[in-house]
Amino acid sequence: MGAEGWSARLGERLFERFERAREGGRAPRYSAALQRLAEQVQGFAREAEPLVVAADEEASLAQGVEIARELLRRAARAGWLTRFLPGWVGGQAGVAALQQRGRLPMLIFVEELAAVSPGLATLLGAHYLGAMPILLSFDFAAQRRILRPLCAALQAGEPAICAFAITEPEAGSDVEDPVGGKRARLGTTARRVAGGYVLKGRKCFISGGNLARVTTVFAALEPEKSLRSWTCFAVPMDTPGVEVVRVEDKMGQRVSPAAELYFDEVFVPESYRVGPEREGWRINRATLDLSRPFVGGMALGAARTVLHEGVAWAAKNGLMHDRFFQHEIARLLGSYAAARALVVRAVEVVPPMTELSAMAKFVATDTAMRIVSQIMDWMGVEATLRSSRVERLYRDIRLTQIYEGTNEINRLAVFEHGQPRSWADSF
Ligand SMILES: Cc1cc2nc3c(=O)[nH]c(=O)nc-3n(C[C@H](O)[C@H](O)[C@H](O)COP(=O)(O)OP(=O)(O)OC[C@H]3O[C@@H](n4cnc5c(N)ncnc54)[C@H](O)[C@@H]3O)c2cc1C
Repeated sequence: MGAEGWSARLGERLFERFERAREGGRAPRYSAALQRLAEQVQGFAREAEPLVVAADEEASLAQGVEIARELLRRAARAGWLTRFLPGWVGGQAGVAALQQRGRLPMLIFVEELAAVSPGLATLLGAHYLGAMPILLSFDFAAQRRILRPLCAALQAGEPAICAFAITEPEAGSDVEDPVGGKRARLGTTARRVAGGYVLKGRKCFISGGNLARVTTVFAALEPEKSLRSWTCFAVPMDTPGVEVVRVEDKMGQRVSPAAELYFDEVFVPESYRVGPEREGWRINRATLDLSRPFVGGMALGAARTVLHEGVAWAAKNGLMHDRFFQHEIARLLGSYAAARALVVRAVEVVPPMTELSAMAKFVATDTAMRIVSQIMDWMGVEATLRSSRVERLYRDIRLTQIYEGTNEINRLAVFEHGQPRSWADSF
């Protein structure tokens, strides 16, 4: 056989192998290490599901809080609350791993938790959100001072979590948007006193605020009380004057308590100020830019479960060969895949870009909501029963469109720096 014949035979064999691989229809999403992480999180979430359901369906608010505490204890013992904190504060994330894999492991973490329960993802994720301002202050001494004792307690299995407090009764969107921020009526203030500050005011809807050991609280300096004077403080929640006013009775994510907090003349030492004075707004924006794609990831994690349920329902009802349904399912799978690709891109970009993070958040959460609404339409009454997982995920996903800035505010964030910066180059 001549050279051409060999070349043709080789080509045929390679094509054959290529087609066999394609027929398998699977493209591994992750490296082996990340796949292992995904499976570990799935295992944790599966075991947590009965408690999540109990908090959602049966429990009173007080019982729900106890369930949340128990889940945090389990998560602490399993290392999930220190896993993504850096080694120098007592966490398990090495600098090399952070450099190699960036925020993808964290995305996998919240996504796989949310595939079982977005509430569970918020319960655990809000701890990292609360720690983020301290990390983003890049004040390594303060990081160690504040976070090391928490990590030690977490490693001992205590639910020593952080929470993040920007929202106030009179200022929700206004503390997420620089234009609204200029006219924000800020009610939480910090007054300078010898050795530190005295905080006064109210924060509301703070995820895990009733359970936290430390909350990062953003307060306007007296006397000016403007967003420009916003400063971040790490407030130990056992400080005299800190009061948990109530836990909200909300429609979804019921396993993740959201609390109103009152700070009644709370003394915070200077060493617990996070970053310099007046850097609160920048630290807040950096935190949200890092975190918003994860909210998108949570919504899509839940949407993936709903898609599985919808496809299984269509198969059970003999609809998978129906061309109308094929159109519908293809549309949903395509929009899921596109939104997820955007979220993955947003977590890859270092440092995070305001526009990309906001787009990932509103595109993914809106897509997830469309998916769950559409699948509820197909399934009809079956999906409206309290015993249906789709019903619970519908209520849970809805909240992702509201927190970390409503999707309206996230759309405005695309213009936060004037014209959207180099958006076309970022894809
Ligand atoms: C489950 C849950 C958990 C939460 N966890 C936390 C937490 O851990 N920490 C924390 O600090 N906060 C938390 N929040 C609060 C959340 O971030 C706020 O609810 C959110 O920012 C919206 O604020 P708001 O509810 O006061 O709405 P408002 O600001 O009162 O907005 C009402 C409506 O007006 C629209 N709107 C406002 N301004 C504009 C504008 N300029 N242009 C167009 N539309 C506008 C909004 O989009 C919205 O539709 C949580 C909320 C929920 C639901």
